[in-house]
Amino acid sequence: MSVLVLADHDLGALSPATARVVHAVAELGPVEILVAGEDIAAAAQSASSLAGVTKVLTAEGQFAADSLEMLLSTLAVRYHYLVASAGSVGKDVIPRLAAKLDLMPVTDIVAILGPNRFERPIYAGNALQTVTSNQSKHILTLRASAFRAAASGNAAPIEPLDVSGISSAAKVIAAHRTQSDTPDLATAQIVVGGGIAVGSAEGFQLIESLAKKLGAAIGATRAAVDAGYAPNDWQVGQTGKIIAPDLYIAIGISGALQHLAGIQGAKKIVAINTDAEAPLVKLADIALIGDLFEIIPQLIAELDKTGLKR
Ligand SMILES: Cc1cc2nc3c(=O)[nH]c(=O)nc-3n(C[C@H](O)[C@H](O)[C@H](O)COP(=O)(O)OP(=O)(O)OC[C@H]3O[C@@H](n4cnc5c(N)ncnc54)[C@H](O)[C@@H]3O)c2cc1C
Repeated sequence: MSVLVLADHDLGALSPATARVVHAVAELGPVEILVAGEDIAAAAQSASSLAGVTKVLTAEGQFAADSLEMLLSTLAVRYHYLVASAGSVGKDVIPRLAAKLDLMPVTDIVAILGPNRFERPIYAGNALQTVTSNQSKHILTLRASAFRAAASGNAAPIEPLDVSGISSAAKVIAAHRTQSDTPDLATAQIVVGGGIAVGSAEGFQLIESLAKKLGAAIGATRAAVDAGYAPNDWQVGQTGKIIAPDLYIAIGISGALQHLAGIQGAKKIVAINTDAEAPLVKLADIALIGDLFEIIPQLIAELDKTGLKR
């Protein structure tokens, strides 16, 4: 049964989330990838190198959610599965596509149990639900962080699509970006997260220094984001990003349920907190009880002594 994956890409580069989605759906059937947008040649090349991909379709142009939905619905007839990662593009496009095709989407999938059985978290990640869908087609979003990435080394053909009839009611006027050379939060192996206790945007530079040292992505609680200490796209949790790193270092974070909903896939957790009773301290594999402003500089100094470079 054929699968079409909508690729995530940014600034010309394929997002690591796409390799994870491809690996997850490879068991459902031959996988084709759609790369749509501007400046997509390099992203299409990366997509074609992913194991399990049989063809890459490219659609050059500026696409907003409405025009992407239009494009996907014209392609839909050829596929049994239309899949995106549960990132901002997937969350924007997939519900529109499902409504257009009069199908129920299955969103936020964390495990594929069979051709029509999918597992997804509910109640802010406190329970897992198995959905059996008997629809003719499956419209899916996958939590990329829950899956391993497909290997590279493939060379699938790349086929440009004629998109002259596709237009959008929306026009992108400007993009305001957070400049960062840290890894992608949703797929990073190490994440260093800061809470409101960090105290200010300047205070977050301490978190950033530790993250840089470890080659880690930076996360934040909603309280820290709401206070303006950290940008919105760093928010981890129920209404932020879902992460599944090998190591999560949670600094001055209490561990409210809404935050824990975003870190359930973390394999090891280190909590740094003044409060030994904080929920995240109790959940952590290692807890350092003390003031973050003393512990973090000490940690950075110790890491410097080891000469660690990532
Ligand atoms: C609908 C809804 C959705 C939400 N979605 C999210 C979400 O996606 N993500 C999210 O994070 N939150 C979310 N929240 C908010 C959540 O409920 C908490 O308010 C938030 O996670 C708390 O953030 P915090 O840990 O930074 O702050 P606090 O809960 O105030 O905790 C601060 C912690 O820092 C410790 N501390 C203080 N000073 C120091 C120091 N000097 N050194 C070390 N430790 C120190 C304290 O002991 C405490 O444990 C949501 C809430 C709602 C209602």
